[in-house]
Amino acid sequence: MRIGPVISKNRFYQVPHCNGMGHGKPSTLAAMRSVKAEGGWGVVCTEEIEISPHSEIAPNFEGRLWDEHDVPALLLMTQACHEHGALAGIELMFNGYATPNRYSREIPMAPSHLPVRHLDPVQARAMDKRDIANVRRWHRNAALRARDAGFDLVYVYAGHDLGLPMHFISRRTNRRTDEYGGSLENRVRFLRELIEDTKDAVGDRCGVVVRLAVDQLLGQGGITAESEGRDIIAMLAELPDLWDVNIADWSNDSITARFAEEGYQERYISFVKSVTTRPVVGVGRYTSPDAMVSAIRRGVMDMVGAARPSIADPFLPNKINQGRTDEIRECIGCNICVTGDNLCVPIRCTQNPTMGEEWRRGWHPERIAPVNAKQAQETALVIGAGPAGLELARALGQRGVEVMLAEATRQLGGRLIHEAALPGLASWMRVVDHRVHQLKRMPNVTIALESPMSASEVLDFGFNRVFVATGAHWRKDGLGRQHRQPLVDPTLPQVFSPDDVFAGAMPSSPVLVYDDDHYVMGGLLAEKLARAGLEVHFVTPAAKVSEWTDMTMEQARIQGRLLELGVHLHTAVEIVGVSPAGTGLAIQLDSIYTSARQSALSCASLVLVTMRDPCDELWRELLAKRELWHESAVLTVECIGDACAPGTVAAAVYAGHKTAREFDSVITDPDAVPFRREMIRIES
Ligand code: ADP
Ligand code: SF4
Repeated sequence: MRIGPVISKNRFYQVPHCNGMGHGKPSTLAAMRSVKAEGGWGVVCTEEIEISPHSEIAPNFEGRLWDEHDVPALLLMTQACHEHGALAGIELMFNGYATPNRYSREIPMAPSHLPVRHLDPVQARAMDKRDIANVRRWHRNAALRARDAGFDLVYVYAGHDLGLPMHFISRRTNRRTDEYGGSLENRVRFLRELIEDTKDAVGDRCGVVVRLAVDQLLGQGGITAESEGRDIIAMLAELPDLWDVNIADWSNDSITARFAEEGYQERYISFVKSVTTRPVVGVGRYTSPDAMVSAIRRGVMDMVGAARPSIADPFLPNKINQGRTDEIRECIGCNICVTGDNLCVPIRCTQNPTMGEEWRRGWHPERIAPVNAKQAQETALVIGAGPAGLELARALGQRGVEVMLAEATRQLGGRLIHEAALPGLASWMRVVDHRVHQLKRMPNVTIALESPMSASEVLDFGFNRVFVATGAHWRKDGLGRQHRQPLVDPTLPQVFSPDDVFAGAMPSSPVLVYDDDHYVMGGLLAEKLARAGLEVHFVTPAAKVSEWTDMTMEQARIQGRLLELGVHLHTAVEIVGVSPAGTGLAIQLDSIYTSARQSALSCASLVLVTMRDPCDELWRELLAKRELWHESAVLTVECIGDACAPGTVAAAVYAGHKTAREFDSVITDPDAVPFRREMIRIES
């Protein structure tokens, strides 16, 4: 594909994506992008790159190109991309009212006076003509520095309600009365000027890309694909070398699988190719080669854009190229990757445990060295086939170890068998399917179903290395974050845990779901029960439903869905007493802020989503029989995943992978930092 003066070797385009590394961890970042380039992506882009301290996103780690001092860090990435034949793209950003400038303390700028997008008590000031000239100059200079850093594609960023050009375009954020406000032509003026500046500065060497949100999903109050989104593309049709089009804001662009299917953006972006002859890239969590080919054949896009699919499987293009499509590690659409950026730590991924570990631990998504000669003869028994056990068995199998995977039930998948059956989570089963598919092709791995292992059986088998990945179960007594002591008698017939619901128990209506876990489970069970026709009260000590899902950008949708289903929401409330009343329960509630706001609810049943306890009895028994290990040839017994400490599916997969990597590593110094770090240089 030709993009202005440069050519991409194929149609696989890794669109810009944040990663929690940015300017803070340049080597970590370059190694991650390098793996994408090695995996066959024709284009590999940066995250947002700040062009000036007048618009910076601290404490989040995005890229920086404030001046020439930032060039060497970005060179690491462009060199890595070029070594593998990929084009390197850079998303220059100036984020206007979307940045409080917490670090630089410069006053944010916007088309009109506006409070910033965050809740910080900061307002952006309206830009005058000198400000506009300044931003244009900063952008131009950054484009020149980007060219000198080796970038092939330079972005003008008007997406996500983040880029300043979008703030000028949208009537929601532009109340100007000069030639930059009012008519659409006026509101588009700033974007047009930036494109022209960039083409003039670097257009002979670099493709100039515009990233534009063609719909804000705000109806007539915002930009829509039917009206202004279409008109903007028509106005600027041939000006950029490539259009990268999507929807705003980021939570809509990177919507989770729970709320949208593969290809969900097509209905908004499919008009673009009819109003421009320039190549178009779009996204939509495409993981299936058929869907990708179809999007191109139907003329929706010219290049298949991907952020999350490239995170879950950096080698997706090569696998398609080599006819290994069955080996694609498909993104499950959970947005655990987004949590890294939101929490200012390196990106992690549920499906790809090596993501973010490429440099600091030297992990590669496709390759693991065979175990060293000394331990090559050691056999491994993995007990439990949830995400931790499956990934451990798979990675050990890949390393050439003789493995038996023993699972108590008839099904592989552990917790995911139940969790993926909850509303909207079917794609989570891909974590299991991908691994089972690999395992079944490994001659050195044996899978034993319906094989509940006891300690004596483990010792009878005589495997050298034993890994207990037996999972966890939900507590049923209310003990958790809010209540550090049990709250309720778990033997009451009206009290249920999530495991009871998974096992087929149906609580009676009205049911109270108490969520002291704050990730997805409480909200999912409330949704499931409401859909089954029960009257549901959702009670949580948090200020919002499923509060931690702010990190995965799902919170507003989850709360909205429960409201639409008629679930009664009681937030910032804790349970302080539960007592049987007739066939049901009398439940005393209290505001978490004041005991002056006590209330009571009568329910037929109570579902407690508070915390899980590890199922580690087998591991403890094996430790207690340590004196018998030697005669059984057992060398080590380790407990991993939820059986060690219950957490996310991503944490369980990571635990399995890490354990496999460390199968033959000898820890010489237990006090040493276990991975490489990027050190700050001390300035004098
Ligand atoms: P994780 O998330 O850590 O992988 P899961 O709860 O998803 O944990 O999976 C644990 C798996 O271990 C389940 O499939 C369960 O049936 C299995 N399991 C539990 N105890 C035993 C046992 N004693 N022998 C074999 N399998 C077991
Ligand atoms: Fe996909 Fe989840 Fe991985 Fe993100 S963390 S790339 S959404 S599987």
